[in-house]
Amino acid sequence: MKRRPLLAGNWKMHNTVIDACQLAAEIGKCSAGLSDRDVLLAPPYTVLSEVAHVLQGSEVLIASQNVCWEEQGAFTGEISPAMVKSAGGSAAIIGHSERRQIFHEDNGMINKRILGALAFGLLPILCIGETLEEREGEKTYQVLEEQIRKGLAGVSSEGMKEMVVAYEPVWAIGTGKTATKEQAQEAHAFVRKLLSEMYEKDIADSVRILYGGSVKPANVDELMAQIDIDGALVGGAALNAESFCRIINFT
Ligand code: PEP
Repeated sequence: MKRRPLLAGNWKMHNTVIDACQLAAEIGKCSAGLSDRDVLLAPPYTVLSEVAHVLQGSEVLIASQNVCWEEQGAFTGEISPAMVKSAGGSAAIIGHSERRQIFHEDNGMINKRILGALAFGLLPILCIGETLEEREGEKTYQVLEEQIRKGLAGVSSEGMKEMVVAYEPVWAIGTGKTATKEQAQEAHAFVRKLLSEMYEKDIADSVRILYGGSVKPANVDELMAQIDIDGALVGGAALNAESFCRIINFT
């Protein structure tokens, strides 16, 4: 099945207003006319509106880096789906390993965020991935299965059609150490097979599974050539217009 590639840039806690607008404008320029793929940016909350404004009229999608399950209320430090949408966003990264590891978000909370995003019409990007210790202990597939099953609890087939999954081995994030194309393909194939046990096969076949973990201009082409890799979630290399533009123009 042909899946539309999705190239996503996660800016993490980088860029204040001026830098963000400049970078967004450059990415808007180099993504113009790319009609066979989707490009997405996840800026910090404080510049969501500005980035959306700069990219108005372009095809670049805007995501938040997390999202709450509630519409509004006493949730200090959180952002609601309605807030993301009103700032121009249409997607949300959920369960990033930095949220799991540094801020102790567990699969239960991540599941609530996924269900909340779907309920309010945001496209959730569910991040999963094993640590080095888990890989070395041969627990990779056990961890991925638990993250998928618990993260997607209660997500219907209709909901699954609106989901994106990102496989991001924790040991490859921000380390310059990329999973080999074989390691990445194997994990993606595992995730797709698992999804086909949980949902109809055509839904599992149509879900986009992104790879994340030190994606760079030098390795994007070989990663994107793998049959089950449908895109990339990019951190460090998304902070530089030249490298991210090369990544979104993968061949
Ligand atoms: C990420 O933040 O999701 C990520 C994959 O970062 P990096 O590309 O820097 O490894």
